[in-house]
Amino acid sequence: MPLQVDGNTRGRKRLANKVLASIKKHRDLFGMQGWDIVITFKEVEGDMCMETVAEPEYYKTMIDVDLRGLVESDIDLYVRHELLHAILWMYTNLAESLAPSRHKKLLGGMEERLVTDIERMPFWDILYKAKRRK
Ligand SMILES: [Zn+2]
Repeated sequence: MPLQVDGNTRGRKRLANKVLASIKKHRDLFGMQGWDIVITFKEVEGDMCMETVAEPEYYKTMIDVDLRGLVESDIDLYVRHELLHAILWMYTNLAESLAPSRHKKLLGGMEERLVTDIERMPFWDILYKAKRRK
């Protein structure tokens, strides 16, 4: 399924293309070819460069990308992070809806930690090198 792209890159077209290339690369590595991925270039609140909402039951995710503070060398990290959130969305939502309210903050923190740990695992570099050799 092709990526849907929307929004305004505000003169940062080259950086936007790097983001799209990274999303395509990781979509294939994550086996998400059947997902409907909607990317919107826009301002994101707070200090976030990307923000994701997902409907994994429909294989759909919407990723907002704010190019203002995005550092090119971190694009792959951010993309891995957001796609992991999309994949886990259904499970983390279920856990949050079943948990007593006093545990919701803890669950949110655990999800962030899990996603960040996987995003930073050293196997990514090995995987990229192996893919380039093909
Ligand atoms: Zn996150």
